[in-house]
Amino acid sequence: MQIQRDEYFADVVKQKLRALQLAKRRELGSDLHISELLNPRKAYWTRTLGERVTDESIGFFITGEAFHKVVQDAMGIEFAEKKLTLPGIVGTADICGQFLCEIKTSRKWTIPEEPDPNYVNQVTAYQAMADRPEAYIFVIYFTAGRKWDGTKPSTLEMVAWKVELTDQERIDIRQRLLDEAQRLNKALAKKDPLLLQLCADWMCVGIYKNEVQRTCPYYTTCQPEGRYPIETLLKPIEEKKAKTKRVFDGLVSKS
Ligand code: SF4
Repeated sequence: MQIQRDEYFADVVKQKLRALQLAKRRELGSDLHISELLNPRKAYWTRTLGERVTDESIGFFITGEAFHKVVQDAMGIEFAEKKLTLPGIVGTADICGQFLCEIKTSRKWTIPEEPDPNYVNQVTAYQAMADRPEAYIFVIYFTAGRKWDGTKPSTLEMVAWKVELTDQERIDIRQRLLDEAQRLNKALAKKDPLLLQLCADWMCVGIYKNEVQRTCPYYTTCQPEGRYPIETLLKPIEEKKAKTKRVFDGLVSKS
C-alpha cells in the first residue's frame, strides 16, 4: 500500500466549498439584513467592494452549516427558518419547534458564563422584529475543555440560554435597528464608512498564541480605528507576557 498526501485533490474540494459558500451568500437587495446592521462597517465594505470569501472563512462556513443542519433536522426542518421584516430591514431567524432559537457553533475552549454579545444582539433583534418576549441561544462548543498544553482532549458541549425581553425593550430594539439602517444607508450614499461603528473586535483580526490566524478581508481597506495596523493588537499581548514574566521572576527570586 502507498499513501501520500494529495494537495491537488484537497484544492479541488476547497474550490467547490468556496463556490458553495459564495452561492449561499444572500443576494444584496435594497433592504438591509439584520447581520449587516450588527456589523455595519463590514456591510459597508461588502456593499461597496463586493463579497469576499477567504480560505479561513471556509472553515467557519463548513462547521456552522453542518452543525446547524443537524440541529434543525432534529428539531423539525419544516419550521427551520422564519423570514422577518421591519421597514427597509429583513432577517431570517432560526426556529426550533415553536421557539425562536439562534443556533451557533463556537471554537472556544472554555464555556463562558454568558453567551457572546454578538449572539445576544442577533437573537434580540429577531425577538424585536417578531415581537416575541422569549427566545433561546443554543451553542455547540465543539472544542470545549481543550488545554493549551495539550494535556486534555476536547469534548463537544451543547449549552442553551433563554433570553427574555420586556415590551419596552422590544420597542427600543426595533427603534435602534431602524436608526442603524438609516445610518448605514446614509454612509453608503455619502461614501463615508466613518459614519458607522466598528464591527465586533474579533471580526477584524483573529490572534492565537500571539500569531495572526485570520484577518477580515477588508482589513487593509477599512483600517479600523484603534485596531490597525496589526502590530497595535499584538503589542498588548507582548506587554502582558512581559508583565507575567516579571511577576514570575520576582516570585522565583524571593523563594
Ligand atoms: S476590518 Fe473590522 S471593522 Fe472593518 S469591516 Fe472588517 S471586521 Fe469590520
